[in-house]
Amino acid sequence: MQPKELLDLAETFGNPLYVYDADKIAFQYKRLTNAFKVEKLRINYAMKALSNVSILRLLKNMGSGLDTVSIQEVKLGLHAGFTPDKIIFTPNGVSFEEIEAVAHLGVQINIDNLSILEHFGAKYPKTPVCIRINPHVMAGGNENISVGHIDSKFGISIYQIPHVLRIVENTKMNINGIHMHTGSDILDVEVFLYASEILFDTAKQFKNLEFLDFGSGFKVPYKKDDIETNVEELGKKLTKRFKEFEKEYGRELTLAFEPGKFLVSEAGYFLAKVNVVKQTTSTVFAGIDSGFNHLIRPMFYGSQHSIENISNPKGKERFYTVVGYICETDTFANNRRIAEIHEGDTLCFRNAGAYCFSMASNYNSRYKPAEVLWKDGKGHLIRERESFEDLLQNQIMVDL
Ligand SMILES: *Cc1c(COP(=O)(O)O)cnc(C)c1O
Repeated sequence: MQPKELLDLAETFGNPLYVYDADKIAFQYKRLTNAFKVEKLRINYAMKALSNVSILRLLKNMGSGLDTVSIQEVKLGLHAGFTPDKIIFTPNGVSFEEIEAVAHLGVQINIDNLSILEHFGAKYPKTPVCIRINPHVMAGGNENISVGHIDSKFGISIYQIPHVLRIVENTKMNINGIHMHTGSDILDVEVFLYASEILFDTAKQFKNLEFLDFGSGFKVPYKKDDIETNVEELGKKLTKRFKEFEKEYGRELTLAFEPGKFLVSEAGYFLAKVNVVKQTTSTVFAGIDSGFNHLIRPMFYGSQHSIENISNPKGKERFYTVVGYICETDTFANNRRIAEIHEGDTLCFRNAGAYCFSMASNYNSRYKPAEVLWKDGKGHLIRERESFEDLLQNQIMVDL
């Protein structure tokens, strides 16, 4: 999107504001469907990245399915118009009752724990279940988000497959899918293909599979010269291998992925106004009307979101440390080169589509921002800015 378009939206809808570009989401979706040329492909959008129901509907209209991690996400997906057969539930550490309730809604469940598997299989031997394995491959870009390694809480260890097979035999339950999600940020296609071989090996041991789910971890660039997952190369290599496996297995299977970040990260822009420019002996701070209550990734994961001054895009570049208004240190960027900033200017953060609004909170009793979907050259308000009533909602002032 152009700086002028974004600035107009900030003027119309106010600051701070999240803006999502529908064309970019569609572009990324098509990149995936073009890269994997198999007979049956399923892209299940991992909605925890950005869960606004209008975004869900947009993806539904493109043909996407949905990957969910809580029953509330399942209900939002159904509300947005997804049918249960287009949703997969991949939770971790949730209660048996929650898994049971989701299965009753007709949604495919994915189990990543031996005790739950045994309990579920004994109670519902006819309900198809997918198994999430842990292939023990380190493929993450960040300690918090690499989930395939040996001590991870995710998935059933591949060393425990004999135990899984015993449970399946004893309960006569129906395993229809094998899944892995090795962690965010695949930097190396070969590492991913290596993990895929482990998934194929595991799959051979189950006779009634309908799909193989390779999770996600597609990395997108955040700053110039960042490595990005080569989706086209991965597509070519995995497609070939997948077709070989289908022959070996003796049946056509669905190839599934569940990307979050890849679909929505680059489509998102976060706009915030500069309240103060403050010069100290060594640093120039630009303080914005936001903080980690609205965008926590820089503080939580150390993410480097690129920042532009859209009020003065052609201005001379100077060094700024961009900070928030929260009453503890909340630094968005340290000593960044940004076009000269004046108080009242609007800054634009890129890659603000994934894990940004969905991680926002009301810390410091601030309102959550509004969200706008940019489609067909028009800004559609898809979430109102919160108001004072929202802060009081559900609170009870007891008569002391
Ligand atoms: C979070 C998550 C994803 C999406 O990961 P991205 O890095 O956003 O693509 C996919 N699958 C599962 C099971 C997840 O928990």
